[in-house]
Amino acid sequence: MNTQPTTALIDKFGRKVEYVRLSVTDRCDFRCVYCMAEDMTFLPRNEILSLEEIYRVAATFVSLGVKKIRLTGGEPLIRRDVLKLVQRLGQLPGLELVLTTNGSQLPHMAQDLKDAGVRRLNISLDSLDSDKFRELTRTGDLQQVLAGIQAAKAAGFKRIKLNAVILKGRNDDEILPLVEFVRAEKLDLTFIEEMPLGVISEHGRQECYMPSDEIRAVIEARYALIPSLHDSGGPARYYDFADSHSRIGFISPHSHNFCGDCNRVRVTVEGRLLLCLGNEHSADLRAVLRSSDDDEILKQAIVKAMDLKPERHYFNLEAEPQIVRFMNMTGG
Ligand code: SAM
Ligand code: SF4
Repeated sequence: MNTQPTTALIDKFGRKVEYVRLSVTDRCDFRCVYCMAEDMTFLPRNEILSLEEIYRVAATFVSLGVKKIRLTGGEPLIRRDVLKLVQRLGQLPGLELVLTTNGSQLPHMAQDLKDAGVRRLNISLDSLDSDKFRELTRTGDLQQVLAGIQAAKAAGFKRIKLNAVILKGRNDDEILPLVEFVRAEKLDLTFIEEMPLGVISEHGRQECYMPSDEIRAVIEARYALIPSLHDSGGPARYYDFADSHSRIGFISPHSHNFCGDCNRVRVTVEGRLLLCLGNEHSADLRAVLRSSDDDEILKQAIVKAMDLKPERHYFNLEAEPQIVRFMNMTGG
């Protein structure tokens, strides 16, 4: 009998960590209203991990039993030479490499990403109306993102998933158009409740808060949703349609706490290993990376950090944000 654990990464609550989200940049070509302030200061170059350092972190996690890595950001596809990193990561045996993007660079990058071994894409899209899309992203061009989605389909990506953050009074009228779009285009769609990460001035998070159950009710007034057996091992709950292969997911950090079976950690582009999206518990991997070339030392630092993973997070929309980092720092 094989008694070897599948991962060396187990926290104090017995949760196995098999999934890492790696942020490859804090920068972005968009300025989504829920994610960033209009005026952002980004990290200076010497504070961010080089592509080589990011690769070392990723390969070390894989050697510790991590099975899935998601590249994210900021916008991962605007980091110079990111494709070279993706190509190297694509060679790591047994790794499921996936990526979250705003889609703007996909028209010219989708095929290369597919060829490099990216298995699946999540593409963020909050509106199908050009003006509203521009308002929400401040700088984004809807047509470019739609062309990116088509390029991803043409490149052969399967089960492409769109992510939408719905803000009451701003894009809650986009719920059904987005659902109809994914049904027509044979895509999946996950709705994410807005999380209070970073101080934003542009809208009140409380007034705009749209619980997943309300979104589901809007969809169910038109289409029956059947609870799905699909389980991604993550925080989303999924529903199927009787007459379409598209799947609808809900990520509800406020209305349904999902910490009990959390199997993931995050690494920021500064090399901070974050043990929980909603807490500041972290370990400084950059210092470890830059103090020694010995991957054993890096391994030990990662294993030790698992003890810092808190049991759960608490978000409170009425209070000032407890987490001052923005989502572009955290990596979604
Ligand atoms: N730029 C890429 C994108 O937009 O897909 C990847 C990074 S982005 C931070 C990852 C995901 O986080 C996106 O789907 C975005 O909608 C979501 N996000 C950003 N800020 C958020 C917030 N405050 N609450 C909930 N989701 C947020
Ligand atoms: Fe950029 Fe993604 Fe944040 Fe929008 S959600 S500002 S696309 S990092």
